[in-house]
Amino acid sequence: MNTKKENREVDPSEEREYHSPSSGIFFKLKRHLYRDISEYQKIEVIENDYFGRVLLLDGLVQTTERDEFFYHEMLVHPAFVSHPSPQNILVIGGGDGGALKEILRYQIKYACLVEIDKKVIEVSKEYFPWLQASLEDERTELVIDDGVEFIEKTGKKFDIVFIDSSDPAGPSASLHETDFYENLKRCLNLEGIVVSQAGSPFYHLDSIKDKDAFLKKLFKIACFYMSPVPTYPGGSWCFAFLSDDVMPLNIKRDPPRELKYFNLDIHQAAFSLPNFLKDLGSNI
Ligand code: SAM
Repeated sequence: MNTKKENREVDPSEEREYHSPSSGIFFKLKRHLYRDISEYQKIEVIENDYFGRVLLLDGLVQTTERDEFFYHEMLVHPAFVSHPSPQNILVIGGGDGGALKEILRYQIKYACLVEIDKKVIEVSKEYFPWLQASLEDERTELVIDDGVEFIEKTGKKFDIVFIDSSDPAGPSASLHETDFYENLKRCLNLEGIVVSQAGSPFYHLDSIKDKDAFLKKLFKIACFYMSPVPTYPGGSWCFAFLSDDVMPLNIKRDPPRELKYFNLDIHQAAFSLPNFLKDLGSNI
């Protein structure tokens, strides 16, 4: 897959992420707050005047204080407004805690976060305050494990599973493959939904098409929706909505009122795809 390109620092006062060999995004550094290499990846937190704190893994932006709401609201709320009774929720990846923060807005019984890299959790707890609050919530369980292995061995079943993984390189690669999704289906309750981040419709179109082809074979409903995410490559992002029973446009509840981006009009519109993506997804 054509992933976000490895960062190549050319100016020590900037953090640059290349999206093609000749283009990308840069952040003027106010300061470096954290930089280390964990067992799995290079972890950095920088501060930028406009975006605030920015978390990068292997030089690729994961989240920023200023624009995190686009991605996290659009990852989480479409499934919640579509599911008849979401109670047991799983997040794979998501160590920055943004997805968990959105999930805990609902009256659920249980949210399990499975993150492979405990260092991402420690760093995010320190620099992104919403994670600390979400982990202290009594409905939350944190598991430090490889999502692939967790899914192979768990006996638990979930109503919604969110795949909040990094792009398909390093420890995330297997979270983007057919076998993983096959196993994941065993962990879904009746009327279960999987939502997975799927990449940039502009830069990662080939991999989105590959994913679409195998996901359509596994799930009766396999469709994509889109959202702006200002700091991700291309500025807009694709998500896969997967289920055997639940249609995303059959709304079951209102979203929380305090959200910054998501509402039911946005929900409806997000599943309308541009012409170059029209042959993706199925049947909604
Ligand atoms: N929204 C982000 C994006 O698309 O850029 C993803 C955010 S989140 C920080 C991604 C997390 O997935 C990372 O913390 C990484 O450690 C975790 N991760 C990668 N591979 C994993 C695996 N196999 N199992 C569980 N977590 C994994």
